[in-house]
Amino acid sequence: MITLKNVVKTYDDKTVLKDLSVDFPDGKTTVILGPSGSGKSTLLRSLDLLVRPESGTIDFGDISLDYSKPVSKKQSFDIRKKTSMVFQNWNLFPNLTVLQNVTTAPITVLKRPKKQTEQEARQYLAQVGLAEYADRYPSQLSGGQQQRVSICRAVAMNPEYVLLDEPTSALDPELETQVLLILEDLSKMGQSMILVTHNMEFARSVADKIIFVEDGDILFDGTPDEFFNHPTTRIKDFLSGIT
Ligand code: ADP
Ligand code: MG
Repeated sequence: MITLKNVVKTYDDKTVLKDLSVDFPDGKTTVILGPSGSGKSTLLRSLDLLVRPESGTIDFGDISLDYSKPVSKKQSFDIRKKTSMVFQNWNLFPNLTVLQNVTTAPITVLKRPKKQTEQEARQYLAQVGLAEYADRYPSQLSGGQQQRVSICRAVAMNPEYVLLDEPTSALDPELETQVLLILEDLSKMGQSMILVTHNMEFARSVADKIIFVEDGDILFDGTPDEFFNHPTTRIKDFLSGIT
C-alpha cells in the first residue's frame, strides 16, 4: 500500500496539490480522473519523486519519507525501484533496439544477469504480440507498438507499482484498443497500477478504485460503482463532458 498524507505542492505561487491525503492499495488498479490541469500528473510523479512536494508524507511499504526533509540517495533509489512509469509519449530510446529498450535498465540499474533478463524480455514482448520486433528500432514501429514496448520495459523492472500517465492519449483509437487490452490483462493478473486516463469506458472496466481530482483537491475517493452509477452533480457534469 502507498499512503500519502497532507501533501502540498506549489509551483511559483500556484498550489497544485492542496493538503492531499490518499492511499493506493496493493494488487489493485487505482484510476485517477479529473479535468486537465487539476494536478493528476503532479500527484503521480510525487510517488516516485519525479516531483518533490514541499510538505506531507509518503509511506510506501517499508519506506517512509517526509517530503519536507532531505531524502538520501539510497532512499530515493529504493523508492524509485518500487515503481515504473509509462509515459504518454512512451519515451523509448531511439538508438536502442526494442529488446535493448526493455533490458537496459534491469541489467544496468538492477544488475540483473543479461541472458536471463533477455529471455524474460522476449517473453514479455511475445505476450504483447511483439515477439518478431525484438531486434527492430522504435522508429520502425507504430505508436501503439511502441507503447506496448514501453509497458514491457516498465514490467521488466519488476516494480511493485506500474504508474501510467495517460498511456493511450497519443494513440489512434484502433491502436489504443490493443494497449488497453494489455493493461486490462496486467490489472487482472494483480499488478498494482495507478493510472491517469481520460477514457471513461476503460476506467470503468479496469478500476478497483477511483480518485477524482480537481484543482488540487480530491473530490471523490471510492469505487467505480459509486463513481459511475451514483455520481454527484459535479461528477455528472464531468462525465457528460462539461468540464
Ligand atoms: P494534470 O495532469 O491534471 O493535467 P498537472 O499535474 O500536469 O495537471 O498540472 C497541474 C497544474 O500545475 C497546472 O496548472 C500546470 O500548469 C501546473 N504545472 C505542472 N507542472 C509544472 C511545472 N513544472 N512548473 C510550473 N507549473 C506546473
Ligand atoms: Mg497530466
